[in-house]
Amino acid sequence: MKSSLRVGMLVVESGEKQYGPLKIAARADGSDIFIPLMIINGREDGPILNISGGCHGDEFEGMEAVRRIYRAIDPNELKGAIIGSPVVNTPALEVGQRCSYVDQYNLNRCFPGKENGFLTERFAYVYFNEVIRKADYVMDFHGGGNIMCLAPIAIYRDIGGENVAKKAEELVKATGIDLVWKGSGGWIGPISLEAQKIGIPAITVEVAGEARVRESVIQQFETMIYNVLSYFRMIQGEPDLPKKVQFFEGTFINCTNGGFYQQSVDLKEMVKKGDLLATICNVYGEVVEEIRAPFEGIVCSKRTFGTIEPGGWTLMIGKLL
Ligand SMILES: [Zn+2]
Repeated sequence: MKSSLRVGMLVVESGEKQYGPLKIAARADGSDIFIPLMIINGREDGPILNISGGCHGDEFEGMEAVRRIYRAIDPNELKGAIIGSPVVNTPALEVGQRCSYVDQYNLNRCFPGKENGFLTERFAYVYFNEVIRKADYVMDFHGGGNIMCLAPIAIYRDIGGENVAKKAEELVKATGIDLVWKGSGGWIGPISLEAQKIGIPAITVEVAGEARVRESVIQQFETMIYNVLSYFRMIQGEPDLPKKVQFFEGTFINCTNGGFYQQSVDLKEMVKKGDLLATICNVYGEVVEEIRAPFEGIVCSKRTFGTIEPGGWTLMIGKLL
């Protein structure tokens, strides 16, 4: 008999599923601040897959996919287990923003967290130690939040040793996404990067955004999960995979001046070095900045929020590898 799975206060026997809170702290009024968990412990042995949604509080489509998978999967037909969270960053969700309203920290720059740090650092610490460390594979779901829309892309990194990097590449290909950012370990703090540093193959998935909840996008996230589950033989069936995966190296272009933003290129459009991508106007309608392609590549994101702050993200261009 396969053993039970314990995460925080939740104990899920094999062949069962259970959802509930992973407590982080209490508010002044006594109510709990928590991370909601949705756990399916399969009847038979297999890998443990973590699916994290809502690390940013304004990226709703991946959150819904995690909830749907929990309802749809029968633990008696699952090998291994799924530890999902529809919303890791609940204080950010409460205000519909990317970051927590409590300390303004970006949770996806705080992993592996600090036990005695600010609240967001504590979220990262508890989630990393209680959930991520138990996983064999990690998928972290994102989108463009309030300000942008992204082409379906996945990010994996060539770090953590050859074997781990290879498994991460296998995981990213198993999603069925055909546009993949091959990154390195240059940043600090994202879930997927820090998981891989400790030997757990991990990827970030980015689809759509604009703070919307489109049925078609939710289904794209669901399809990725089913692809991964069937690829690793956790459920029956065959993954639906593309014939070719295009790898790229992404660059976010930051503007110098704030103003009214208008982007003239669309998702997945190919651009040449020097092409005009977007303009920024001041309040009188005068063009204060032109954003031009720094190299030949593919447009991976579109800023859809009408204004931009000085130094803000305009769009991301991928240099095809
Ligand atoms: Zn995000």
